[in-house]
Amino acid sequence: MKIAWFCIPAHGHTNPTLGLVREMAAAGHEVIYFSYEQFREKIEAAGARYISCDDCDLHIDAANGSNRVGKDLAFSIELIVESTLAMDDLVSRVIPELKPDLIVADSMAFGGKLAAMKFGISYVCSNTTFVFNRYSAKYMGQGMGGLWSTLRALPKVSIQLKRLREAGYPVKNFLELISNDNETNTIVYTSKEFQPCSETFSDKYCFIGPSVRPVTSPMEKTAEKTVYISMGTVVSDREIYKKCIEALCTTDLQVIVSLGETAGDFTELPDNIQLFDTVDQMAVLQIADAFVTHCGMNSVSEGLYYEVPLVLMPKTPEQMAVARRTNELGAGVLLQPSERTAEEIRKAVEKVLYDDRYKAAASGISDGFKRCGGVKEARTFLETIARHPVL
Ligand code: UDP
Repeated sequence: MKIAWFCIPAHGHTNPTLGLVREMAAAGHEVIYFSYEQFREKIEAAGARYISCDDCDLHIDAANGSNRVGKDLAFSIELIVESTLAMDDLVSRVIPELKPDLIVADSMAFGGKLAAMKFGISYVCSNTTFVFNRYSAKYMGQGMGGLWSTLRALPKVSIQLKRLREAGYPVKNFLELISNDNETNTIVYTSKEFQPCSETFSDKYCFIGPSVRPVTSPMEKTAEKTVYISMGTVVSDREIYKKCIEALCTTDLQVIVSLGETAGDFTELPDNIQLFDTVDQMAVLQIADAFVTHCGMNSVSEGLYYEVPLVLMPKTPEQMAVARRTNELGAGVLLQPSERTAEEIRKAVEKVLYDDRYKAAASGISDGFKRCGGVKEARTFLETIARHPVL
């Protein structure tokens, strides 16, 4: 079969899909992956054909507006519509030529979902974080109900929807665009045990467990206990890194720091602190005894997979949901923003390092991950949907 796959330009959304892409390609299926130059190499290495979306220019300044997303609803909606319309030329040219049996799109790659609607192709959602409905959304600390009624009320929403309809996307309402219901076939890269309120999701949700990548650059363990610190690949957070380093620089712990987007001119550090722009996270987690994380879904899943207890420092509502769930299951200590001082960070690290209950809880979640059907179950799921298209 032929699959058109859409993803947004983010490692956290691309990485989890690659194992499944590899599995599909190895089974003889053709995967055509719409993405961006930065991700090309790993997409092609997984066996997919890459199609560039780099020329699909947005007409609004998405980068400068990134801090308005989520706070300013009208802006977020405009951004979603704009990014979809930006892809319209490409999608309308390529999809009818390709005639895919299936479109798989990241839950935030709205252009993919809408392309499926426009061309009447079966759609599967690829969900790299928890799935949210009115029950699980409570873990984000905000009800979705309020958000949805605001969305309905905004006059700007209907103007934006009209733009989509005029471009041939038969979208009925905004909720249909941004959310999944129990009728949407959805791949979720976690276990039913870890997903909050998993009993409220239908069997159209395929919980395949997290995907971990093979180690490519092994990391040496240089102390009895190793702590890994990463705030992810998207947002730079200099202050938090400074506090973490301050918290741990006088200990005899091996401290491995992945700085990501954060500029790295931290000077005069003791030998126990090892700074990197980026690390082979799988390699580091294999030797880590604690992980201080921003609670991106992938980082938390990967940490727990390797049975590493966590110090949880979320920023966004989505990260907060992951943090709350981990904390609730006993595999991590959650630090609220006001508690993120060097002293509290050191105490939290010591807690997860030396109180065995955190490690035991992480191992329990890891066992659940390993019982999941993984990419093989996801392949069968996709093959079944492609054989029984619902138009
Ligand atoms: N990652 C990595 N090396 C690093 C930092 C991160 O390979 O030095 C990977 C990590 O393994 C994970 C992804 O980047 O798969 C980050 O995704 P996550 O959802 O945790 O956070 P985001 O960066 O999207 O906020």
